[in-house]
Amino acid sequence: MNVLVINCGSSSLKFQLINSDTEQVLAKGLCERIGIDGSLTYQPEGGEKVKSDKPMPTHTEAIQYVIDALTDAQAGVVKSLDEIGAVGHRVVHGGEKFASSVVITDEVLQAIEECNDLAPLHNPANLIGINACEILMPGTPMVAVFDTAFHQTMPEEAYMYGLPYEYYEKYKVRRYGFHGTSHSFVSKRAAEIEGRPYEELRTIVCHLGNGASICAVKNGKSVDTSMGLTPLEGLVMGTRSGDIDPAIMEFIAKKEGLDIAGLMNMLNKKSGVLGLSNNLSSDFRDLDTGAKEGNKQAAVALKVFAYRVAKYVGAYAAAMNGVDVIAFTAGVGENSGPVRADVLGYLGYLGIEVDEEANNTRGEEITISTPDSKVKVMVIPTNEELAISRETVALV
Ligand code: ADP
Repeated sequence: MNVLVINCGSSSLKFQLINSDTEQVLAKGLCERIGIDGSLTYQPEGGEKVKSDKPMPTHTEAIQYVIDALTDAQAGVVKSLDEIGAVGHRVVHGGEKFASSVVITDEVLQAIEECNDLAPLHNPANLIGINACEILMPGTPMVAVFDTAFHQTMPEEAYMYGLPYEYYEKYKVRRYGFHGTSHSFVSKRAAEIEGRPYEELRTIVCHLGNGASICAVKNGKSVDTSMGLTPLEGLVMGTRSGDIDPAIMEFIAKKEGLDIAGLMNMLNKKSGVLGLSNNLSSDFRDLDTGAKEGNKQAAVALKVFAYRVAKYVGAYAAAMNGVDVIAFTAGVGENSGPVRADVLGYLGYLGIEVDEEANNTRGEEITISTPDSKVKVMVIPTNEELAISRETVALV
């Protein structure tokens, strides 16, 4: 079956068409600037990537262009819509309502809408994408795959904040976690590589991209993760602060005359390694170059980033009473040997020994610990689209 995987943002939409039997990506692309002017980038397997301007007042036009490209006589990869068996939608927030992926029905749409409050920027955009597909592909089964669902197995002690209980009761203020599709995919793959049952393994997945989070997966279940009610909690990220003393909010607001929106913008967009490096860059390649050229703040940003990751790994080893596998994934985790080495440098007490040559590789699945290492350390490229496609096929 061919599965169309859609990841819809407020003004953009990423897609892949995946043959679920061979798990081959038949075509992929991106619509950008939806509602402003609009462009479509499309690339069939083995073909050229082509970007063209297309007027896209709404997501419905965007998805129509995607369908037109996929079924185009020259660059298309299917003859008609009949060859698309299902659509898998990434949905950011499933609240406490969704602990797994679901086939989309009217009731499901209603329930996703009820989670809008928890992700006001993302969920409405995800719903718009789903509605547009329903209009253009009526009758094609659709599945929602939630970023939060994998973490619904967290125990209370991991998901409750030390806040008045009434906020949990009234507003469901608690920790949810994100990147669930990636943490699930990578931890399953780690068990396969290790040749041990998923249900018996303790894995710490370090998803280190522009957005970054860590997850403790014990016996096939997420038992803790570093992001919280929103993706702002936890690690120092590209532009997000991660954990801070909440009283800093009042302190800075008074000094700088910022309101809540200004503070949130600072914490989400101007902080992290970007802020730490004094605005040099949020991209780890630039920070690496900067540090090598003697930029002190770039070096500090990299050190703070790695230290925070190491602290979380230590915490999760404690939470699981040990760890069998540590897996690095996403843009930084897959590509940056120096960041991995800095993190692992703190973890010698776990009996970890790094194979430096293996750690110098980039972007490939590889074990980077030595055969003697007490904990296996792996690099496992994540593939959220493939995971969404698999979930979709399993349900339709
Ligand atoms: P997201 O999906 O959260 O936007 P990604 O997982 O795509 O993020 O990761 C993007 C980040 O990966 C970039 O900001 C960049 O810093 C980092 N990255 C990519 N390639 C390399 C590399 N060779 N070395 C270091 N960092 C890299």
